[in-house]
Amino acid sequence: MQTSRSEELFQRAQQVIPGGVNSPVRAFRSVGGTPRFIARASGPYLYDVDGNKYVDLICSWGPMLLGHAHPEVLAAIGRAAAEGTSYGAPTEAEVLLAEEIIARTPIEQVRLVNSGTEATMSVLRLARGATGRDMVLKFAGCYHGHVDSLLVQAGSGVATLGIPGTPGVPAATTADTIVCDYNDRAQVLAAFAEHGDRIACVITEAAAGNMGVVPPAVGADGKNFNAFLAETAHAHGALFVSDEVMTGFRVSRSGQYGLDGVQPDLMTFGKVMGGGFPAAAFGGRADLMAHLSPVGEVYQAGTLSGNPVASTAGLTTLRLATEEVYARLDATSATVREAVTAALSAASVPHVIQRSGNLFSVFFTDAAAVPDYTAAAAQHTGAYRAFFHAMLERGVYLAPSAFEAWFLSAAHGDAEISRIVDALPAAAQAAAAAY
Ligand SMILES: *Cc1c(COP(=O)(O)O)cnc(C)c1O
Repeated sequence: MQTSRSEELFQRAQQVIPGGVNSPVRAFRSVGGTPRFIARASGPYLYDVDGNKYVDLICSWGPMLLGHAHPEVLAAIGRAAAEGTSYGAPTEAEVLLAEEIIARTPIEQVRLVNSGTEATMSVLRLARGATGRDMVLKFAGCYHGHVDSLLVQAGSGVATLGIPGTPGVPAATTADTIVCDYNDRAQVLAAFAEHGDRIACVITEAAAGNMGVVPPAVGADGKNFNAFLAETAHAHGALFVSDEVMTGFRVSRSGQYGLDGVQPDLMTFGKVMGGGFPAAAFGGRADLMAHLSPVGEVYQAGTLSGNPVASTAGLTTLRLATEEVYARLDATSATVREAVTAALSAASVPHVIQRSGNLFSVFFTDAAAVPDYTAAAAQHTGAYRAFFHAMLERGVYLAPSAFEAWFLSAAHGDAEISRIVDALPAAAQAAAAAY
């Protein structure tokens, strides 16, 4: 068999980069096979180095809300880059991006950083500094980047690889992290009953997206899990931190906050707000943000933070992400979900589709619902593996892991939906055969 360019590059990559990739899930370990090396992207399509064309349902793991290489975003980036790419001094673009983020969310001040990981790492330091407490409560299956103290039963890449936590994180670093099951109110109440006066904050994904999509459940009281967390934290003098790195500016104009209206004390953002560049942010109440240096004493900094090109990419993306764009994403998402369910049902493949706004995922499971990580982990990953490869062969690029969301863009239209719909029956058959 002839070696493809992707195979050849992957061989070389593995010599010089651990596992051949710069972020683990890209390596296809959980689905097997060779990762496709991408040469270019345009609108809803990815093109690999062998000339194959794929409908992209990862969208760079969320950021490319408008599709790839959007002409207006490219033009703005070009203009910004021509003025110099980094100054290490304040710029107008940072002010405009901060104003845009604040206009869409309940936060009063925001600080720009370079990755979602940096945002959650910094927000924990701020929460601890502002409350004078050390403990943090997080949820199994919620991923907040590779922050040491949060790599405890984390989802996404860690869940995929089946690593319990990770070597290299000292036990002392995670000793102050409490892990509860997502959507489990009794566990949260018990944790607060025991440690309430030592907990600085509860941090949660605004809607879990890194174990597949698991939305905050609505309880008998009519309130959703986020509202319960905010109330419980506040009753104990702790802060409620909502990680909207994935959901922010994706599931609605105002992220998950725009869907459930639960006001966090602090929030984190990334992905969409960077417009495909390394940019992220954390923000919240002005009195809390005032603890940050240079105003307050909690230290936080970054050579490239608020980079002018990245800020311009993010700002231009957000300005183009109008209510019309979100309505279109919602409609496309509904159409794709219906097609997936129809194809899987026709092939008698047990499955559950869950969503928050336009963000959704498909669990291959006999369960009626997936409320937490235990249920997510019980899915049939072999069926997903077969489904994934059948879709890939037919030109549809899904996440190479059963634990990820499906990401659409505003560039996905009728032609792309048709390609997906055409690929589904054979992929559903492949999943059925693997079940
Ligand atoms: C992606 C993600 C992060 C980490 O962001 P990086 O930019 O990859 O460091 C943190 N939190 C959530 C909810 C995410 O989805």
